Amino acid sequence: MGRGLLAHGGCLIKLEKGLYGQQANDVMFAPFTLISKEDIAEGVVAFEFEPADDTPLTRSIPGQYVTIQVKVKDGIRQPRQFTLVPSQEGHRRVVIRKDPQGEVTPILHEDINVGDVLEISNPYGDVVLDEGHGALVLGSAGIGTTPIVAFLDRLAKEGSQRKVTVLHADHSKDRWPGRQIMERLVDSLPNGRMITWMETPGDGDYEGFMNISEVDLDFDQDTTAFMCGPLPS
Ligand SMILES: Cc1cc2nc3c(=O)[nH]c(=O)nc-3n(C[C@H](O)[C@H](O)[C@H](O)COP(=O)(O)OP(=O)(O)OC[C@H]3O[C@@H](n4cnc5c(N)ncnc54)[C@H](O)[C@@H]3O)c2cc1C
Repeated sequence: MGRGLLAHGGCLIKLEKGLYGQQANDVMFAPFTLISKEDIAEGVVAFEFEPADDTPLTRSIPGQYVTIQVKVKDGIRQPRQFTLVPSQEGHRRVVIRKDPQGEVTPILHEDINVGDVLEISNPYGDVVLDEGHGALVLGSAGIGTTPIVAFLDRLAKEGSQRKVTVLHADHSKDRWPGRQIMERLVDSLPNGRMITWMETPGDGDYEGFMNISEVDLDFDQDTTAFMCGPLPS
């Protein structure tokens, strides 16, 4: 192994130690009990968990995700990442779209029930809001709403005066995960507005896939933009 690679490996180990050091515990996964399971849009379920033991809970930063492990049919534990959305203090809440061809999400939707215990990691991820005052453009499509909901909740709780433009694209209003909460949070922001693109005619401000050239985003050099979601297939 070359010296450069060794030095690089050392940096990564240090970085990893730093990430673990920010946690309130030293476990990779802790047990959590599912306490509610709620349909929130077509094919989308919100799962809320509470700790099943006394492992200290790391506070999450809005935008971070957890890894949930699920035992699949061949007995192997499969991990998948899910963004944390606002929940009661001390709980973990995630919103999950079922991929009918997927390995883990059909199990979560169909076989995991209230009272079941799953292994959930500490929160990780650095796609989080900055502390600045600049304008924000928060774009999402489909299940990409989960970090946007977490950001909007934080901005609303802080009473933020930032100019916030939310852009969302979806198949229809019924398939839009977290529509009501997003509408409520944007309404509560004094400088918030939302623009939507829906494939179903009449459901959004614009029809079809998101096309930002259709709107005046009024960007300036202090604007930060986040885009979360799939590209049209
Ligand atoms: C940071 C992060 C945050 C996320 N947050 C969320 C969230 O909040 N909510 C949410 O619902 N999801 C979220 N996801 C996505 C989530 O982690 C899963 O990837 C997703 O739910 C699919 O999981 P699955 O096990 O059901 O599907 P998988 O088994 O992973 O399969 C996904 C798709 O790939 C296809 N596929 C699998 N293997 C092959 C192959 N060999 N060749 C071709 N195609 C193949 C499958 O048919 C399926 O359609 C997030 C992902 C990341 C990385």
